[in-house]
Amino acid sequence: MRKRRVVILGSTGSIGTSALKVARDIPDRMEVVGLAACSSVKALAEQIHETGVKRVALFDATKKEELAALISPDVTIFTGEEGLCELARTEEADMVLISIIGTAGLQPALTAIEAGKDLAIASKEILVMAGEVVMTAARKAGINVLPVDSEHNAIYQCLQVDHRGPDQVSRLILTASGGPFRTWDKNALASVTLEQALQHPTWNMGRKITIDSATMFNKGLEMIEARWLFDIPMDRVDVIVHPQSIVHSMVEYVDGSVIAQMSESDMCFPIQYAVTWPDRVSNTLTPLDFRQLGSLVFEAPREDAFPALTLARRAGELSGTMPAVMNAANEIAVEAFMNRRLGFTQIWDVVGQVMNAHDPIDPMGRLEPILKADAWARSTAAGICASLATSSV
Ligand code: MG
Repeated sequence: MRKRRVVILGSTGSIGTSALKVARDIPDRMEVVGLAACSSVKALAEQIHETGVKRVALFDATKKEELAALISPDVTIFTGEEGLCELARTEEADMVLISIIGTAGLQPALTAIEAGKDLAIASKEILVMAGEVVMTAARKAGINVLPVDSEHNAIYQCLQVDHRGPDQVSRLILTASGGPFRTWDKNALASVTLEQALQHPTWNMGRKITIDSATMFNKGLEMIEARWLFDIPMDRVDVIVHPQSIVHSMVEYVDGSVIAQMSESDMCFPIQYAVTWPDRVSNTLTPLDFRQLGSLVFEAPREDAFPALTLARRAGELSGTMPAVMNAANEIAVEAFMNRRLGFTQIWDVVGQVMNAHDPIDPMGRLEPILKADAWARSTAAGICASLATSSV
């Protein structure tokens, strides 16, 4: 039985803390050999004590001394993006789990690939922005990319059951919880408050992804993520609303058979599978109790009320730099909404306007045009957010 030695980038976030839970649950199969956090010094220090790791990284360099004071002097502390990359190269690691919010995990992911480490990817932005670049580099390096996002992990599992190429897959069907406003009238969405948007019905997640679930941009990003992970054209990536979040996603084959993956909604399931793949290992997680489950519901997504899916499909079809632009514009709009400078439905307006103003180009396998488009989209989106804020006052 192979033990995975894992570096966790983003260890104090929602996925990171679940990953440490998995490591405690299956110690024969998972050992944590490096930890990185953005700025949560206290939580990181506790994790360092617990795991005994000797290499850590702190994105916020100004907090290095504060961390050093809390931990043993024989622990090496790296800082900044270069520090994350240094950790991704850790000699004794054979897998790097990327669970950093947003785009900060992109460079460390490419560094890990170069160093021959398998990747477990929880940060969807990496595959949305640079899916083609990352997957091409991964294939060239001969490393595995294991998705941790529950939907993609589910599809990965479904594809293992019936190991056929993309030509025998007719559709990938991503399930979506529909978020807290699934049944709301379209006109009522304009008055959604931050507090309402932060109440997710089935998943307990970070703030940004919770807002993305409410707008359905989370599912839009996941459509593009799936397109690159599984090398399937956008028009064969479908979404179905499933409010119970028990079926995590499905694969439909050309003969009409559908294979689905189910479990309780707990991120420990997909994290463990990414770490133990291709094996299955017993654990202390609660299996489904079908006698208690009741009914599972499936509904068509309401794209007229939640235009994020339409925008995402367009971005994925245009491809090139457009998915990066959509992602960046959404990050800025969500930030403005969380700072109460933008209305809920204006998130879609901002993203749509920024996409309309962009002419996508083919990055030809390079990161630079993608990062340039990302920066352009951020400043353009910020400008639009500012003008909307002034006009609504
Ligand atoms: Mg997901």
